[in-house]
Amino acid sequence: RTRRERRATDAAAELAEWQRPLRAQFPIIAGNPDLAYLDSAATAQKPEAVLEAVRAYLTTANANAARGAYPWANATTRMVERVRERVKAFLGDPDPATSAVHFTGGTTEGLRTVARDWLTAYLRDGDEIVVPPADHRANLDPWLEARDLLARQGVRVAVRELPYQASSGDYDFAALAAMAGPRTAFVAATHVHHVYGVDMNIDRLRRAVGPGPVICLDAAQSVGHLPVALDRLDVDFVAFSGHKALALPGTGAVWARQARGPAFHPGGWSGTPNTAGIAGLEAALDWLEAAGPDRIERWCTALAARLTDALRTLDAYEVLGCGLSLAADSPVQHRVGIVAFRHRAISSGDLGFVLFSRGFMVRTDSHCQAGAEESDGSVRVSVHVYNTVEEIDALVAVLAELN
Ligand code: PLP
Repeated sequence: RTRRERRATDAAAELAEWQRPLRAQFPIIAGNPDLAYLDSAATAQKPEAVLEAVRAYLTTANANAARGAYPWANATTRMVERVRERVKAFLGDPDPATSAVHFTGGTTEGLRTVARDWLTAYLRDGDEIVVPPADHRANLDPWLEARDLLARQGVRVAVRELPYQASSGDYDFAALAAMAGPRTAFVAATHVHHVYGVDMNIDRLRRAVGPGPVICLDAAQSVGHLPVALDRLDVDFVAFSGHKALALPGTGAVWARQARGPAFHPGGWSGTPNTAGIAGLEAALDWLEAAGPDRIERWCTALAARLTDALRTLDAYEVLGCGLSLAADSPVQHRVGIVAFRHRAISSGDLGFVLFSRGFMVRTDSHCQAGAEESDGSVRVSVHVYNTVEEIDALVAVLAELN
């Protein structure tokens, strides 16, 4: 073996050593050794530390936030404020003194809140917004609704489509640079694509559009899967789902830089926040940071590459990916834990049924993709830190039986 091959083997072994004790910390995974959960892009499983943090909060300090003047209420208010700062630190916010964090039930609610509570107040007649036509619906509908709402008030906003690059699956930044002009006020983009797993290279987005437009990022599939590093991204809003990042269902947040336009403080303290969920989110972010988002990215990317490589050898399957080429050095190798594919003869529903009968839980049929002809009727496999090489190999063995 060459030195390079030996180094790669050592790195893989080291990563496997790192992963084993982490997997053991997920009770639902450890308790179901005959099942493989491969649908983490929909929602992720929870480590013991998150369950324990929720339990600890509910059994020691449960009260409404920003209401009472007794110790539990004060502790809850302080906890919520602390978790806002935790979210900022986790995202690598370079300027936490001026930014804001608003807790939501997930990315959909987050993006909708930016659209309704902020964008409609920011846009002016004749402005232009750029939105992704083939990402998650949650990152398209709110912007179109904002445009329609403004149109009813006589404010005309033009909608342009973010272009994609067929060869690599990320956005076409050259075409975007040519499209962006002085009236481009807002750009909505996605960090990691929820069907193709492609990292959309958002570090290039600001350079493409220049300093003018506000940029809002859908980070549903990146938070918890890779280091978000806001200090390098230069965006204005980030929405993510806590539940996809190991926290409880019905949790999420929007981070807002607050550099331009009206302040982003939807509702303030006017409702009762999901305090137990917020306590769980803090534990989830602590857990992820201790595990290391860079290693989680390497782990999930390696599992996705293993599956993609295997599918390339099976004639019956077609891997989806914005027309991505399947050459060995293609960016298809860097799918952040998500692979969608189709069997040429077996429907996605039937394939999902067969896979579950063999213990594999995958996503079938439609994936909430806007303009979804390409991914409709496909199977999506998505992994997180608790999945293993053995699970992928076992899945491939079943897929090979159907080849
Ligand atoms: N955006 C992307 C890219 C997603 O993958 C998802 C998840 O389904 C969403 C938005 C919506 O997230 P949620 O269901 O938490 O609102």
